[in-house]
Amino acid sequence: MAVLPIRITGDPVLHSPARPVDRIDDDVRSLVRDLFETMDAAPGVGLAAPQVGVPLRVFTYGWVDESGTRWRGAAINPELWISPPPAGDPDLDEESEGCLSFPGERFGLRRAERAILRATDLEGEPFEIAAEGWLARIFQHEYDHLDGTLYTDRLGERDRRLVAKITRKLGWGGPGASWMPGVDHLEG
Ligand code: ZN
Repeated sequence: MAVLPIRITGDPVLHSPARPVDRIDDDVRSLVRDLFETMDAAPGVGLAAPQVGVPLRVFTYGWVDESGTRWRGAAINPELWISPPPAGDPDLDEESEGCLSFPGERFGLRRAERAILRATDLEGEPFEIAAEGWLARIFQHEYDHLDGTLYTDRLGERDRRLVAKITRKLGWGGPGASWMPGVDHLEG
């Protein structure tokens, strides 16, 4: 097991669609262990394989909801159905999102309140989770990564200008930039 460096916005692997997993072999099992370890070290509530440079349709999530229910797992070749996202501007207290591939920043973003995740677990068993609230947001965020979309791509024009400014200022936006959880302390 290993904590892996997390790719930062601009690296091509974050901006291209990932490909499906053909079979769950030792490489995929090892990848999922590393995703959990890296996600916990960051710390983050979700991590997608492209964020550690692997263009496969796999993500992990780990979240304890308001009622104390612990959600933790790996989603392989996921499908996602979402309710219509609400109209209007995001509430910055309740709807601010961050991303380990755009570390240290948060922006408000409206997301669907409900999502249904269908995926395969590490044992090859299909599962389905009907998620609400923050868990639904995590699934939408991680699923986006598998399509090469960052949450910053979904922001309004004003925030996108700010994102571009931060990207330039920090020297991000090109291939190869990454940070190391437990070493660089950019999150949490
Ligand atoms: Zn992210």
